[in-house]
Amino acid sequence: MARIFILLAVVLGVLWWLRQRASARQDSGPARRNAAGGREPASPDASQPMVQCAHCGVHLPRTDAIAWQGQHYCRRSHLPDSAGEGGA
Ligand SMILES: [Zn+2]
Repeated sequence: MARIFILLAVVLGVLWWLRQRASARQDSGPARRNAAGGREPASPDASQPMVQCAHCGVHLPRTDAIAWQGQHYCRRSHLPDSAGEGGA
């Protein structure tokens, strides 16, 4: 008799898991990594957020930017002097 309850618990667990998965998929939208090859090619309207270089103002994907003290920079040489280029 107890087996029925165990089976019921397993079924409910699977249903709950499926529902969690479905809602998680809805949250992240269509911008999940495609099954073809991990990272999707760079496209101008990719859903990744764009940031602005605090030095020169150029916009670039956040994944390509260098984050430093709450700001983003397009390259290392645009970091402020306090970033410690070769300093102690
Ligand atoms: Zn820059």
